[in-house]
Amino acid sequence: MLMSGTELARDIVQRASEKAAEYTSRTGRKPCLATVIVGDDPASVTYVRMKQNRCRKAGLDSVHVALPASTTTEELVARIRALSDDPAVHGILLQHPVPGHIDERSAFEAIVPHKDVDGVTTHSFAAMSFGHNEFVSCTPGGIVRLLDAYDVEIAGKHAVVIGRSPILGKPAAMLLLARDATVTICHSKTAGLAEIVRTADIIVAAVGRPRLVRGGWIKPGAVVVDAGYNEGNVGDVDFEAAAHAGLITPVPGGVGPTTIAVLLEQTVDAATRQPDA
Ligand code: NAP
Repeated sequence: MLMSGTELARDIVQRASEKAAEYTSRTGRKPCLATVIVGDDPASVTYVRMKQNRCRKAGLDSVHVALPASTTTEELVARIRALSDDPAVHGILLQHPVPGHIDERSAFEAIVPHKDVDGVTTHSFAAMSFGHNEFVSCTPGGIVRLLDAYDVEIAGKHAVVIGRSPILGKPAAMLLLARDATVTICHSKTAGLAEIVRTADIIVAAVGRPRLVRGGWIKPGAVVVDAGYNEGNVGDVDFEAAAHAGLITPVPGGVGPTTIAVLLEQTVDAATRQPDA
């Protein structure tokens, strides 16, 4: 059975859009997301454009800061601090990844926590880990929403997260742990990956390697969330060989749409949580 992110995302965006309209009629302003991109990586440019378009369609404003690939860490941090201080901006998204010479962590930390609608700061990570109701990392947040939408029991289950990036694998593991799963995090140095994955009730693949997870790694009835997105619309899971999974997300149309929906939802929440809202 498929877990459709497209349908869930439609519901989340619809509710966010209604909340944005209420906010606008109350304040005369629209919730506003600032997107920041450094360099011209084609995939990143497309992702940011999609996020801006979805904002507009849902009744949000968006401002865009495009910086050249030669931008220094100090310059990027200064631009993000300015957005953090700008009362017209409610949420800030720095598109990951930034060019290698930039200290991405410093740039993320320049986002003031109450505008961290992409859930990338240390503050948000800690809040996520403690199960506090603050901003979650959008892709992991979308993953948990998908599991909930399909009534997947998380508590007491063995969840294996493959990948430990700060925007995806680690926060996904923290959100699942906060929901009482027993969590194993795997990465490129993990020995015996296939054997570990075979013990999973819930698999979250967040690697960026096409079809890394083979059909034989999946326990019959397991729930498979494929967050990977590789060239040619291919996920991290061998979808054709996973017919014995209990539930599985398609690629595309699985995790991807929920990521943007959670971003929009959190931007509207950021606006409505401000003292003058
Ligand atoms: P990343 O920063 O490159 O992290 C990849 C992770 O996978 C790392 O932790 C790495 O381990 C691990 N890894 C690499 N090769 C492995 C292997 N052979 N076995 C086990 N683990 C391995 O990537 P990311 O930003 O987290 O993104 C991962 C995937 O998700 C990509 O396909 C990306 O396009 C997709 N993504 C989708 C969305 C969405 O909205 N759907 C959002 C973000 C990302 P080490 O830590 O040891 O290097």
